[in-house]
Amino acid sequence: MFALRGVVISLAVFATVYCLISLAVRFTWRKLDSYFKPSSARWQAEYFFVVRMLPLFSAALVMAALAIPSFVMFEPRSIEEPLSSVAVILALMGLALLLFGFAKSVAALRRASRMIAKWTRKAGSVQTEAPVSVLQVSGDVPAMTATGIVRPRVLLSDAAASALSANELHAALNHELAHVRRRDNFRKLLLQFAAFPGMSSLEFAWLEATEMAADDAAVSNAAEALDLASALIKLSRFSSLNPPVELTAALVHSPASLVDARVKRLIAWTQRPHAKRNHLTAYGMAAGVVALALFFFYGQLLVHVHAATEWLMR
Ligand SMILES: [Zn+2]
Repeated sequence: MFALRGVVISLAVFATVYCLISLAVRFTWRKLDSYFKPSSARWQAEYFFVVRMLPLFSAALVMAALAIPSFVMFEPRSIEEPLSSVAVILALMGLALLLFGFAKSVAALRRASRMIAKWTRKAGSVQTEAPVSVLQVSGDVPAMTATGIVRPRVLLSDAAASALSANELHAALNHELAHVRRRDNFRKLLLQFAAFPGMSSLEFAWLEATEMAADDAAVSNAAEALDLASALIKLSRFSSLNPPVELTAALVHSPASLVDARVKRLIAWTQRPHAKRNHLTAYGMAAGVVALALFFFYGQLLVHVHAATEWLMR
């Protein structure tokens, strides 16, 4: 009974934090974005991703670091209190959220792996200096796309291989490798897991920013930017734009407005100063602040969290 109460309370806390922060994100991300004005596409993509993942990460953190320890420490084992219906309903919601996210991720993984298997049925490997394997594929395939999460590969269609010049191909491959380095396909899987209604515009903003960030990472001078722009134009013209396939990162995909914006951006390419701090430093600092706060206020926090969960159970 003690363990069951613990599970109910943990799930109820998870659902409460997840839904409240999701709602906060849903209604404030645009305002916050215009307030922070990230300096580069890469920072913008990081910002959108962190904000999109905030409900899941904070709900998991509050559950694991506060709700469970406070329950184990302060909840008397002998008392046989009945669970309140609010706590049970919230716990069922938490369970449903987790199961729904899990089912959605598994379904997306299965669809993606079926699609990739279809694309790579006839594939030959291409010799490149890329750190991941590059396969040339034919048939009804995207012009160029990065696939896979654990074992990333870049697929290059026959059509793209013959349409692009060596420099264009190099720039396009660099774009795909930027997605691989940033594990964008894995991030797409996390987005599937952290499901919540009304998040599609934030997810699209993230997708847009990741494409631009990968463009930035792919080129280091104006000539390379023009090569990538011309690769985008060629590949978007010779096949109609398809919507992005789940858990893959195609070089060009719909909407056409996104391709236009990327081409314009590349044509207007200027030397951008590199971000001075890298993202690991930023994440490290954020984690440090949270760890320090927990260190100083942990005991008090546990007492308050326990009081809050007691109230929830009543
Ligand atoms: Zn891309």
